[in-house]
Amino acid sequence: MKKTFNLILFVFALSVAAMAQTKPTIYILATGGTIAGTGTGSNDADSEYKAGAITVNALLEAVPEINDLANVKGEQVVNIGSQDMNDEVWLKLGKRVNELLRQNDVTGIVITHGTDTQEETAYFLNLVVKSDKPVVLVGSMRPSTAISADGPRNIYNAVACAVAPESKGKGVMVVMDDKILGADDLTKTNTLSVGTFENPNYGPLGIVYGGKPIYTREPLKRHTIKSEFDITKVNKLPRVEIILSYSNATSLFVDAAVKAGAKGIVTAGVGNGNMTTVMQNSLAKYVKEGKIAVVRSSRIMTGPTAQWDEVNDDKLGFSASWYNNPYRSRVLLMLALTKTTDYKEIQRMFAEY
Ligand code: ASP
Repeated sequence: MKKTFNLILFVFALSVAAMAQTKPTIYILATGGTIAGTGTGSNDADSEYKAGAITVNALLEAVPEINDLANVKGEQVVNIGSQDMNDEVWLKLGKRVNELLRQNDVTGIVITHGTDTQEETAYFLNLVVKSDKPVVLVGSMRPSTAISADGPRNIYNAVACAVAPESKGKGVMVVMDDKILGADDLTKTNTLSVGTFENPNYGPLGIVYGGKPIYTREPLKRHTIKSEFDITKVNKLPRVEIILSYSNATSLFVDAAVKAGAKGIVTAGVGNGNMTTVMQNSLAKYVKEGKIAVVRSSRIMTGPTAQWDEVNDDKLGFSASWYNNPYRSRVLLMLALTKTTDYKEIQRMFAEY
């Protein structure tokens, strides 16, 4: 009797081990944000709110269902509010993602991240990850301890996307509020809503339905394995500032940025990337002196900042950002400046990425 019982136990253990082996392996890299935050998350002033308060293990324990989808391994990269995200963490994260995705036994990566700068990190990774395996960023708008916290469902959906074979080759994605969004056009559109993220120009990549991704578009811009940017040997990124234009804008911030050592300036211009004449002349002067590269973008959420429309870019030595908003433009210009300072070459990159 005891022998039979031991045999059953042995067979059971074997099948559990076999099941674990057939399940895909997903790494969850945690960086902080509201998804790892505490507080009531009500819309009233929440004095108890704290971003990046709980660890990756506590985060994963809140969604035991993900263990049915994958062998999940958690790693804490940093634990910060994403308003404090910086180049150093980006480089560390990008290199770790590449290292993990080189392993044959790793199917994909989920990165938990604050929503404030999620669009910047997603786009940075979209340009530097050297793999077509899924990389999915996920955040939440309500802290983990709030009523109707959105984090657990978002994490489940993110893992569901990361294990799905059809998620390969889609570039870096963000999964929140049952939507799958491309890093190519990611924009936070609402300060409080759980449905804050949109792809306002291109439309979402798809939705998550019944625990599975349904894709409705492909990202057509260059990304990941088709990107020319390589951070393997990069330990510091060139300084690029964003400067806003508005009625009466002067050259004050342009002068200050150049003096502080900026190598590039992205303008968040009015309309189709316009700016006051005084600001434009100041930027053109610094370009001529070889001090900076300038990319014109726009403070308007949708539509391209088109080349040679109201501004003669060739005459000024500027590049136009096309569909990249100022935040993505800054990321692309930082990477572009690791390779070139030629405005025509930078313009090519802005047309392609
Ligand atoms: N300030 C938080 C962050 O970006 C907000 C959030 O995660 O929603 O880290």
